[in-house]
Amino acid sequence: METDNCTKLTIAIDGPAGAGKSTVARKVAQRMGYIYLDTGAMYRALTLKAIRLGVDAYDGVGLAALCDQTDIRFTTRAHLQGGQPKVYLDGEDVSTEIRSAPVGSLVSIVAAHPEVRERFVRLQRRIAAGGGVVADGRDVGTYVLPAAEVKIFLTASFAERVRRRHSELLAAGRSVSEEEVSEELSARDRMDSERPVAPLKQAPDAIMIDTTGRTIDETVCQVLAICSRRTGNVVSDC
Ligand code: C5P
Repeated sequence: METDNCTKLTIAIDGPAGAGKSTVARKVAQRMGYIYLDTGAMYRALTLKAIRLGVDAYDGVGLAALCDQTDIRFTTRAHLQGGQPKVYLDGEDVSTEIRSAPVGSLVSIVAAHPEVRERFVRLQRRIAAGGGVVADGRDVGTYVLPAAEVKIFLTASFAERVRRRHSELLAAGRSVSEEEVSEELSARDRMDSERPVAPLKQAPDAIMIDTTGRTIDETVCQVLAICSRRTGNVVSDC
């Protein structure tokens, strides 16, 4: 699907952990020729640095100071050449390490601090300025990019999200039980939904897509169809 140059949409994809947001967002960005912004990767990268330097995940002021001394960069166009997005922390490629269990168990605590969010949201808005972007996260449609033309709230049953995340981790060579994955997902969902600042919730103008029992490609086509209603362009190959 090609969009003409004057119709560069901003597409926000939010939802709970393991709903398939990043895969769907990346594929949609690929099909539309848009940049891909993984907002969660920023919180993960900072969490990794905090672990390495021994900064307490509950210390908002300390984390904000750490954030100010940290350089986080992304490849926002790698998917356009069929590559995997990369995340660099102070110049080091941490794309794999930010998905580790220690980061997963602390990232929602780090992400709950308003001082941290304020800094990352500024950066996210700068990257997304100008449109032609697919951004995924928890608060993209509600807070980061409230004027996004397309807002999707992607979800799936808890059992399916656990199953998917578990097979993803096994495929990545991590030996982890389904129980551990289930505990991590439910703890993160709870913290992300209950935090006072920019919690995980569906924006009133977001379209909910339940991906339970659906393939990634079916979901991608559904999102592309929603986008094509906004641009007037026809989706092919769906
Ligand atoms: O998307 P991902 O699962 O990698 O995000 C990791 C964590 O980062 C989330 O569980 C949440 O705590 C935080 N996050 C956030 N706001 C976003 C994206 C992610 O608070 N926009």
